[in-house]
Amino acid sequence: MSPVPPGSGWPDDPSSPDTPVAHDAAEVVELARASRTLAELTACEAVCRACPRLVEWRERVAVERRRSFAGETYWGRPIAGWGAEHPRLLIVGLAPAAHGGNRTGRIFTGDRSGDWLFASLHRVGLAAIPTSTRAGDGQRLIDARMVAAVRCAPPANKPEPAERAACSPWLSREIALVAGSLRSIVALGGFAWQALWPALAVAGLETPRRRPPFGHGVEVPLRYGDAVVTLIGCYHPSPQNTFTGVLTEEMTDEVFRRAMGEKP
Ligand code: SF4
Repeated sequence: MSPVPPGSGWPDDPSSPDTPVAHDAAEVVELARASRTLAELTACEAVCRACPRLVEWRERVAVERRRSFAGETYWGRPIAGWGAEHPRLLIVGLAPAAHGGNRTGRIFTGDRSGDWLFASLHRVGLAAIPTSTRAGDGQRLIDARMVAAVRCAPPANKPEPAERAACSPWLSREIALVAGSLRSIVALGGFAWQALWPALAVAGLETPRRRPPFGHGVEVPLRYGDAVVTLIGCYHPSPQNTFTGVLTEEMTDEVFRRAMGEKP
């Protein structure tokens, strides 16, 4: 059944029928703050209904489906953070794709951007296999975690500022829960870079007064207690960038190698 009911057997579904549901931005703040573990947090993220426009869109896409996926069940719910519990690297995208993550229930899974991204992560030792096609396919992130700044697929891939703000407490709480083990954060694209700043500050990382503009390979050290977490920009692995050579395999691999502390 599309969208997939919580706790109905979808691989890696973090939620159950009893998971509390946020119905507006204030309830997102409340439930994110109350989540003491990643398991609690991701369960709440994956049933959130705080943004009416996005709930309507993600569920409509899940029912109407693209012709090439007409025989599939679509997830049709928010895409929770996924990966290692104590990651050294956090990878942040903007939002799931309507027929990618919104279909498969896992971030960067089932679309061309994800094909590019996971191939690179596998080459540098951060993903168990080179492909990411569906939940339960055997893929596993190694020392890494992935999140979307906005957890529901938006129309035309463009969330509104209010939707970005509503979703930010999920992001900041997830960053706070993993910050102790982090070495680096890679922002995929300028929109993710922009969406990250407020969440980083709320999560307790010291951010510069003047936020550096996004660029591929730009690095910003962020103090977290006695540690330093490095924010790194990477062009988004969208077909527009990869088909045109704006982002090459070498450029992608190099960002992840640097993020894990390897010398160029
Ligand atoms: S975008 Fe975020 S805040 Fe809005 S409904 Fe989806 S999960 Fe909830």
